[in-house]
Amino acid sequence: MELADYSTLMGVLKSEGFMTKKSLGQNFLVDPTVCPRMAASACDKQTGALEIGPGAGVLTRQLCDAAKKVVTIELDERLRPVLKKTLADKDNVEVIFGDAMKLDLAALIAEKFADCRKVAVCANLPYYITSPIIMMLLESRLPIDNITVMVQKEAAERLCAKVGSRQAGAVTVAVNYYAESEILFKVGRDSFMPPPNVDSAVIRLTLRQKPEIALNDEKKFFRFVKACFAQRRKTLINTVSSGLGIPKDTLRQALEELGLDATARSEALTMEELAGIANRLFPVEDK
Ligand code: SAM
Repeated sequence: MELADYSTLMGVLKSEGFMTKKSLGQNFLVDPTVCPRMAASACDKQTGALEIGPGAGVLTRQLCDAAKKVVTIELDERLRPVLKKTLADKDNVEVIFGDAMKLDLAALIAEKFADCRKVAVCANLPYYITSPIIMMLLESRLPIDNITVMVQKEAAERLCAKVGSRQAGAVTVAVNYYAESEILFKVGRDSFMPPPNVDSAVIRLTLRQKPEIALNDEKKFFRFVKACFAQRRKTLINTVSSGLGIPKDTLRQALEELGLDATARSEALTMEELAGIANRLFPVEDK
């Protein structure tokens, strides 16, 4: 079954009386070239693939062929009969109905993928929760090799930007801390049914074994980074001072010690420089 074929997909959805819901980010892929590329980038035959939001199962079917085992989490119970039909010929997949943001994914991975050499998250993400899902996956330090996901093109550019470039934001710094990122390929809006108002891109985040920077206090670092990028037109000193209530003189001194200009903007700084400032502001004994 070529489920990514428009008339095949429409036929299945129609036969089950299924109507897509915009509020759940239900834009289903109808481009047969996309899912095989995503699956091949994320998995090999030793991989346990965790999918979030199978929809009608277009990507799920490709993951079944590329991976050892697939566990897919879908929020919308109305898709139960659809997935029963579209995955009927696959014997290495388990569908779990629930909210991916609320399930205990560490326990799920330990239980379902114990016999897999690595675990990958591969999904065409619901765009209304792209960043929360990616941050939850990274911050919970799950034993994942890579996160290969379709996101909105602008989100892809922000998530995979170089820290120290104009496109960088707080989320760029967070992604960079946990993973190496790359945009694999772009996907136009016409590859979906119904077509969304935006173009998309598939990104791959390869998780680092160990962060590249040493931090005194991770939580405080990320609070600092959030403040750094909260008011993009202001200098770092001004935005951090107003966001965290740190005196400007203290910030000026930290920048000076690192040989940085007092008028520097956060977007111009590297990971090492951001970490250097944070480590001066929050020394170890402050924990
Ligand atoms: N994978 C399919 C495809 O590529 O055609 C569907 C992708 S569609 C963009 C996103 C899917 O995520 C929908 O099926 C939607 O119901 C599901 N979804 C939305 N929020 C979710 C959540 N919190 N947990 C799990 N699935 C969710």
